[in-house]
Amino acid sequence: MFAMIRRGLVYICVACWLSVICRIDAFVISPTSLSTNCVTSSLHPSTKTSHMKGWKINRRSKKNKPVSLKASTSTTYDLIVIGGGSAGLTAAKFAATFDKSVCLVEANKVGGDCTWSGCVPSKTLLSAAKRAYTWQQMNDSYGNSKIDDTALRRMLQDVKKDIDEKRNRIYEEDDSPKVLQSLGIDLAQGKATFRDEKTIDVSNDLNDTSFQLNAKYGIVIATGAASPRDPKLDIKGLETVPYWTYENVWNEFFLSIDQNPTQQVTSKRIVIVGGGPIGCELSQAISKLGCSVTLISSNRLLPTEEVEASTELQEVFEKEGIQVICNQRVESVSKSDDDGLISVALTDSEDTIVGDHISGHR
Ligand SMILES: Cc1cc2nc3c(=O)[nH]c(=O)nc-3n(C[C@H](O)[C@H](O)[C@H](O)COP(=O)(O)OP(=O)(O)OC[C@H]3O[C@@H](n4cnc5c(N)ncnc54)[C@H](O)[C@@H]3O)c2cc1C
Repeated sequence: MFAMIRRGLVYICVACWLSVICRIDAFVISPTSLSTNCVTSSLHPSTKTSHMKGWKINRRSKKNKPVSLKASTSTTYDLIVIGGGSAGLTAAKFAATFDKSVCLVEANKVGGDCTWSGCVPSKTLLSAAKRAYTWQQMNDSYGNSKIDDTALRRMLQDVKKDIDEKRNRIYEEDDSPKVLQSLGIDLAQGKATFRDEKTIDVSNDLNDTSFQLNAKYGIVIATGAASPRDPKLDIKGLETVPYWTYENVWNEFFLSIDQNPTQQVTSKRIVIVGGGPIGCELSQAISKLGCSVTLISSNRLLPTEEVEASTELQEVFEKEGIQVICNQRVESVSKSDDDGLISVALTDSEDTIVGDHISGHR
């Protein structure tokens, strides 16, 4: 299903892109954008000549012969794409249909946030949590005894397996080097840095290689986004407590359950900071999986949506047992040496929230 959704998004992007491509020739991205790491597939406005006008879409041809990338050599491609997340994959796959040589440069594992820490794990978790919640409610309403901890733990292991399987399946079927190569796309594994508008250095610390790549037409930057603010600067004591983020919660949550066999899953208290879509999804999923959740938002829930949606969502969450605290900032956090519990102090409240774990956006 995720692959279908992604394919759908790809086609929409392709349609939009086609209309752009008909009018411009080269997309060269400003090196300064890369250093801020916050531009997704942006186009540099400075070099709009006409090299690309003769490009023809060739959906079937796989004539691009993958060029082997050797250390300390320089290779020229028609197009280079930096970043192998949803945006970079879409750009590279689309460009390859023009029968031009394309190289995708990725510093980590191809797939980016969507496959490894975003859409795929979060939607898998939500869907599993919904099923688990229904299962528990049915047990309750048919008068069956409460689901015991062993059954709950077994179910959580299945959910974790499901998340891992989905991520790996999408990677193998859509994003692996083998698939890319079959589409005529070379994969350069390493971190890209700009030399000039059409030249990059790719360095891979793992195998200590570095090489240069040149782009005949241009370079697409699809390096994703990162918050310019360091959360540690905002929340006192954050560097002294272990905390999860959307990048690792998909593993750490399950690990924390496995590592504490004596603590009942239902007695686990998770504090989630941030009332945007990610915080809301995570709160609902973890709560439906049986843990107790406190969600703290410095604003209303989903502040970019309509007020009515926020109000409705808060009501639903509270009905489901999530403790929602809105319009409060987290001032500081600390971990007790005695019981390892984490205390969260709020800016405008005397109350302190206590939890086993704390999770936030990043
Ligand atoms: C929990 C969560 C749930 C989400 N759910 C949804 C959803 O349901 N629907 C939806 O549409 N979106 C969702 N999103 C958002 C979606 O995941 C992102 O919008 C999308 O993944 C961004 O893709 P991208 O290609 O721009 O960036 P990324 O996926 O971040 O990819 C950027 C890639 O560039 C690489 N890179 C960076 N710098 C360099 C460099 N110098 N050299 C080489 N490589 C480099 C990185 O390693 C990375 O792989 C969710 C996000 C999160 C966190």
